[in-house]
Amino acid sequence: MHDVISPVSEEIVATVPATSVEETDAAIERAQRAFESWRKVAPGDRARLLRRFAAVVDAHNEELAQLEVRNSGHTIGNARWEAGNVRDVLDYYAGAPERLSGRQIPVAGGIDVTFYEPLGVVGIIVPWNFPMPIAGWGFGPALAAGNTVVLKPAELTPLTAIRLGELALEAGLPEGVLTVLPGKGSIVGQRFVTHPLVRKVCFTGSTDVGKQIMAGCADQVKRVTLELGGKSANIVFADADLERAAAGAPGAVFDNAGQDCCARSRLLVQAGVYDKFLGLLEQSVKAFRCEDPSLETAQMGPLISSGQRESVKSYISEKEVLFTGTAPDGKGWWMPPTVVGARSTDDQHWREEIFGPVLSVMPFDDEDDAIRKANDTEYGLSGSIWTGDLGRGIRVARGVEAGNLSVNSNSSVRYWTPFGGVKQSGLGRELGPDAVAAFSEVKNVYFSTEA
Ligand code: NDP
Repeated sequence: MHDVISPVSEEIVATVPATSVEETDAAIERAQRAFESWRKVAPGDRARLLRRFAAVVDAHNEELAQLEVRNSGHTIGNARWEAGNVRDVLDYYAGAPERLSGRQIPVAGGIDVTFYEPLGVVGIIVPWNFPMPIAGWGFGPALAAGNTVVLKPAELTPLTAIRLGELALEAGLPEGVLTVLPGKGSIVGQRFVTHPLVRKVCFTGSTDVGKQIMAGCADQVKRVTLELGGKSANIVFADADLERAAAGAPGAVFDNAGQDCCARSRLLVQAGVYDKFLGLLEQSVKAFRCEDPSLETAQMGPLISSGQRESVKSYISEKEVLFTGTAPDGKGWWMPPTVVGARSTDDQHWREEIFGPVLSVMPFDDEDDAIRKANDTEYGLSGSIWTGDLGRGIRVARGVEAGNLSVNSNSSVRYWTPFGGVKQSGLGRELGPDAVAAFSEVKNVYFSTEA
């Protein structure tokens, strides 16, 4: 058994099973048996079950949100959005089973047809930063494609995933179609990598573990999707609406206490407006509400664990701090939003994914300099460009190496559009219209018409 600790009260909020290798194997075998039936469920019936699952999740939105606040310290506003996102993703992919069609290709001597076929059992490994949405981005399209799913939540944050597994059964999904297995990555997650019946591993987490998973999957040429770290740039040009960009910048990095792979943790400001922009930024950072996450006004809660807070603090040297916001004292793994000045692109806080409420800032000269500095990283997940010049917005968006960019916005994730990283931020795309195909194989069948 494993204790789940609240990052707000530092108290035990639940005790959950730690799944063993033997139990993982048994669950994978059950999922394989369930797959034999699930793959044959008529598309319309599979769609109806996913819609019912979405409706049940929706009916439990507040319960799931409150559970996430208790387990993960997410703000109640964010947690409601996260549970709503699972509902939306299920609803969106419920449209897929009836629309996933192959092609008829002209050939000599017959007809040729392609089919999208499910892979089998899919293993989904979820990190602690967004337990609900990241689970849903995996199981929504995977189930729609006709796969069954075994899902491992992070040890620190298993409660909402366990509840989603129960709600799937309540909605009528057959036993074994979605199985949630709380436990250690090195045991349960690793078994997804090595078990031959798991045909694809969908991993979100650190780049280091992602590399190990990719290497492990190579042994069986297992399909893999990796959503890894980020060090995204927020680029503000002098011709931008500076007030709007400064008002949005804290949320773009401190949301979820900076524990967000899309966090815009590197702020690049054009030299001519650097001082003015930092003045505006200081006001918006100081107004950013880091407080008890169950309060409706909260914009940021604590970090997930004391270990994470120590890790984040190790990146900060007092002499580099430009200004901070505020955070509660006392119990809870709190840390105020912190803005640090970068002297060089070699600074450790500028280069590494800190995964905490730390924003590094640096000036740039012109478009080329902005693109060069933004791309001077091994990561390429997300980022923003703020400018009043549409042509510049397009040029810079095409020049920055990242999977997801927004112009005059800090939005990263919309379930209708593909999400994923380039370089060491990942491999493959989640969400959007192509995600169901990513959980399918194309089979080609030739029918001879020769007499
Ligand atoms: P990890 O990458 O270690 O964990 C992510 C998930 O993978 C967890 O469910 C974990 O299980 C599991 N896991 C760990 N090791 C293995 C393994 N060998 N085989 C299979 N699964 C495994 O992230 P951490 O929680 O350790 O966070 C460390 C850092 O990673 C953060 O500070 C941040 O920089 C980055 N990170 C990035 C994320 C992103 O979205 N880009 C998300 C999370 C972290 P377990 O329950 O045992 O931890």
